[in-house]
Amino acid sequence: MPTNNRPKVVIVGAGFGGLTAARRIARMAVQVTVVDRKNHHTFQPLLYQVATAGLSPGEIAAPIRNILRGYPNIEVLLEEVVDFKLEQKKVVTKEQVLDYNFLIIASGATHAYFGHQEWEPLAPGLKTIEDALEIRRRVLLAFELAERQNKTANSQSGSPLQFVVVGGGPTGVELAGTLAEIARHAMNHEFRNIDPKQARILLIEGGNRVLAAYSEKLSRKAEDQLRRLGVEVRTSHMVNRIEPGVVWVGDERIPAAVVLWAAGVAASPLGGKLGAPVDRAGRVLVQPDLSVPGHPEVFVIGDLAALKDESGKMLPGVAQVAIQEGEWVAETVARDLENQPRRNFRYHDKGSLATIGRAAAVAQFPKFALSGYFAWLAWLFIHILFLIGFRNRLLVMIQWAWSYLTYERGARLITGSDELPGWAGQAQDGGKTDASPVQQAEDARLSTSKFESTAATAVDKV
Ligand SMILES: Cc1cc2nc3c(=O)[nH]c(=O)nc-3n(C[C@H](O)[C@H](O)[C@H](O)COP(=O)(O)OP(=O)(O)OC[C@H]3O[C@@H](n4cnc5c(N)ncnc54)[C@H](O)[C@@H]3O)c2cc1C
Repeated sequence: MPTNNRPKVVIVGAGFGGLTAARRIARMAVQVTVVDRKNHHTFQPLLYQVATAGLSPGEIAAPIRNILRGYPNIEVLLEEVVDFKLEQKKVVTKEQVLDYNFLIIASGATHAYFGHQEWEPLAPGLKTIEDALEIRRRVLLAFELAERQNKTANSQSGSPLQFVVVGGGPTGVELAGTLAEIARHAMNHEFRNIDPKQARILLIEGGNRVLAAYSEKLSRKAEDQLRRLGVEVRTSHMVNRIEPGVVWVGDERIPAAVVLWAAGVAASPLGGKLGAPVDRAGRVLVQPDLSVPGHPEVFVIGDLAALKDESGKMLPGVAQVAIQEGEWVAETVARDLENQPRRNFRYHDKGSLATIGRAAAVAQFPKFALSGYFAWLAWLFIHILFLIGFRNRLLVMIQWAWSYLTYERGARLITGSDELPGWAGQAQDGGKTDASPVQQAEDARLSTSKFESTAATAVDKV
């Protein structure tokens, strides 16, 4: 039961940052309230596996209440925070107002469409379980609709399916690589009126290389690995318009059965409710101890916080930063309770990993880099290790071993609507040509050269 005279700590968000802080702070003589608008913590690094039918949602997410059940001084509220009244030390949710002595805001980030919010329904991004299920639905449905269309037309000659992934950061790269694997292997021999292997996967990146946060050498290796998997990588090209079933790059029109958005991240809108300075992505410019300027009792951590390391480089929006910041604010609260002076946060970079596909990944550690099979093994090991819950780790390990041996993807369920935005457009494009696959490949090559000579219209990047 709550002990009313203990200092109250309110934590907004039970992602990597919020959960870490909650578990550490719960060891102190305080009363903790964790507020999240979802009832589950999501292991975001494996969302792409749910989006591409490799894992089921329950294998990468766990109920927050269950994760924190062992801490009697933590209460969990399923509520959306909508505002703060910092002067009165209050958090406003849709249902109630909560008092605090310490407030930790860890509400993460969301997709940014660079002022084109109308693209969202046409090109979903990947941030939540719901997003992943919607992407899975669209990807699997595209193959089904193509099969049905060719069956009705009594021919296999429609244009091959095209999937366009916008954005060559870690999420875009892993989505594109896995889509290629699905088309080349997982669907093999299952359709009678289409050849899934003919599907084209395009990865479009505005910058001059994929995985820009990694070294140039690793970016090149990632691009090579993507191409080997069958992904067509186009760098230095900006998408300037998305319509149902169509992506525009400059004046090139690219028909797409499914468009996926992995191009931009914006901070949670809660950052803008604090009256504190924010950067262009909406992240709160925190003090070196992670507190909000003028409010030492309020901390912002994880993807919502903007802080530079000692070399002046902005800390990346990755799980390790959120976890270390969560640990740090817990220690700071402990120091405050013991009347000890505060210290500044220091990030210890343990390295970054990005997976590309089966046995393909890149890894940058402080002292060395890896690519290919060994990077993938490192990625696999670390991601399974950090998954919450022994049961989940075991399930994911079994799933991965199975799909490694068989190429099968075990969660290929289509749920929800059986419509795809712009499918009629895709079907028309398919109907226009009766070219052979060889001719289509040639057409595609020619259109790529045209594409490459087209001056792309820049879209502002965060
Ligand atoms: C697809 C994808 C793949 C990624 N892959 C990697 C990877 O391989 N390695 C890596 O290190 N990082 C990866 N990241 C980044 C990493 O997941 C984030 O940096 C990390 O989750 C940030 O933690 P956080 O605690 O700041 O926010 P989050 O983990 O995003 O948690 C935010 C929480 O706040 C809650 N919330 C938001 N708004 C409100 C509100 N108004 N009221 C109540 N609750 C709210 C949300 O429901 C959520 O539970 C990936 C991210 C994505 C999206």
